[in-house]
Amino acid sequence: MKTQNFNKLNHMNYPIIHNLWEYKTEPFLDFKDPNNINKLKEAFELVESNLNKEYPIFIDKEYYVDKKIVSVNPGNTDQVIGVFQDSSIELADKAVQVANESFKVWSKLNVYDRVNVFLRAANILRKRRFDYIAWMVLEVGKNWAEADADVAEAIDYLEYYSKLMISIHENPKELLPFPGEVNYYYYLPLGVVVVIPPWNFPLAIPLGMTVAALITGNTVILKPAEDAPMMSYLLYDLLIEAGVPQGVINYLPGTGEIVGDYLVKHPDIHMIAFTGSKEVGLLIHKNAANYPGRSHLKRVIAEMGGKNAIIVDDIDDESFMDYAVSSVLVSAYGFQGQKCSALSRLILHKNIYDKFMDKLLSAISKIEIGLPKENKFLGPVINEQAFNKIMHYIEIGKKHNKLLIGGKRYEYKYPGYYIEPTVFEDVKVNDIIAQEEIFGPVLAVMKYSDFDEAIKIANSVEYGLTGAVFSQNRFNINKAKQEFYCGNLYINRKCTGAIVGVHPFGGFKFSGTNSKAGGPDYLLFFLNPKSVSEKIDF
Ligand code: NAD
Repeated sequence: MKTQNFNKLNHMNYPIIHNLWEYKTEPFLDFKDPNNINKLKEAFELVESNLNKEYPIFIDKEYYVDKKIVSVNPGNTDQVIGVFQDSSIELADKAVQVANESFKVWSKLNVYDRVNVFLRAANILRKRRFDYIAWMVLEVGKNWAEADADVAEAIDYLEYYSKLMISIHENPKELLPFPGEVNYYYYLPLGVVVVIPPWNFPLAIPLGMTVAALITGNTVILKPAEDAPMMSYLLYDLLIEAGVPQGVINYLPGTGEIVGDYLVKHPDIHMIAFTGSKEVGLLIHKNAANYPGRSHLKRVIAEMGGKNAIIVDDIDDESFMDYAVSSVLVSAYGFQGQKCSALSRLILHKNIYDKFMDKLLSAISKIEIGLPKENKFLGPVINEQAFNKIMHYIEIGKKHNKLLIGGKRYEYKYPGYYIEPTVFEDVKVNDIIAQEEIFGPVLAVMKYSDFDEAIKIANSVEYGLTGAVFSQNRFNINKAKQEFYCGNLYINRKCTGAIVGVHPFGGFKFSGTNSKAGGPDYLLFFLNPKSVSEKIDF
């Protein structure tokens, strides 16, 4: 570990903290502004002149191995983003050892010194915003606004968790007084946290989990998603530049089933912060619980998939219906439906069904499909495996339901994984496409006649992540608030686009351990409360 980094930290000034009370969520960039367009074009030039480089593993120093992970642009698979190491078990062991050593120092660091590092990281990220957007557009196929929102979310996590950490530190919980004793209640970090993110929010999600772990005094092994190692490398680089010492954060790209699995079972790991699919989340939950040779129970945060529904009530106001249609469109097809919060089941009241569907299909037929770098609304899905899985669900839909639009590969000038926006109707509650997470641009539409039935349909899946209701009926809105069982319910707005500190995010049922990222309780998952009692009258 580089001790000089700790010395550098200790010379930082404290007064930066007063900025916290001006905390605001990061505004999104306006890409109608020619100035922003030019800056992004310059960033693309810079990024494209730096493609296809090789990056090491970072633990106490740099390591290279024989096996590689190659990250490619899903919208133009001829373009290689970068070459990364596929870590070995030996290096995973090394990372655990180094992270455990580093914990002894980092966990003792003054809270303000730790927080300063992340506030500094927020400011560095603001300055590099266009470069990070350009890398993300190329590595995972987000359009400009989606990539910008991801970067803005990352900045928000840095500042929101900084504010929260100070608040936890400065506002100890009150205990009941007890005669003859002084009693304290405070929080300790846990140890080494393994961060296992998905690829779909390739900056915001790994950053949110990593920063929460570090700011509370834990050390981190970051195992990036195989499809987005570049964005995790950029996250590592950002935090190192901001002042997180090497070894406190460790960058360990590798295969989930091998190196991820090994770390989850490792006896010297204290916590796993995971976001990804239900299948992998459940496996991690089980593996973390059942492994011998350790001295503690491992804590697991597992934020998983969704099968999210929007209910549109019997509405007669034309402009409100248009608003609902556009909200449905972005919820279902924003980032090709590859958000855990994405809409995949549309539940429409029978009285508005025909009119709503006419409007929706007309809007879908106008969606522009193509290269995210050219800022088309709908880009590629992430990789061949995802493409095949989505097409498999589309084939099932074609067999059992009625295809209204889309349903095939979109032929395009570049080699990539493009799928047309797809809609099925005549879908029954228990049909496969109404039950399983497809994670692509596929929407299943159902009809209802009374609101109780709509809620029943909405709740009839094993997931419970997001949901939305468009209604002008106060009674139905209240019913949804009470009975629509999901972690994030939105009334009269889209079901995607949660904002840090505004819409704490996390699901019920098999959508997660409900740790609510970007919420007031989140950091407590990374801490152990300790109770100390001193007798003063004896
Ligand atoms: P995934 O589950 O395939 O992979 C997630 C991570 O787990 C990757 O880093 C992978 O390498 C690792 N992994 C795979 N097998 C492992 C194992 N056996 N042990 C340890 N680690 C292992 O998910 P994905 O395809 O990257 O992401 C898409 C999924 O994530 C979707 O289901 C989506 O709904 C979900 N998601 C959920 C949220 C949320 O907040 N609830 C947010 C984003 C994405």
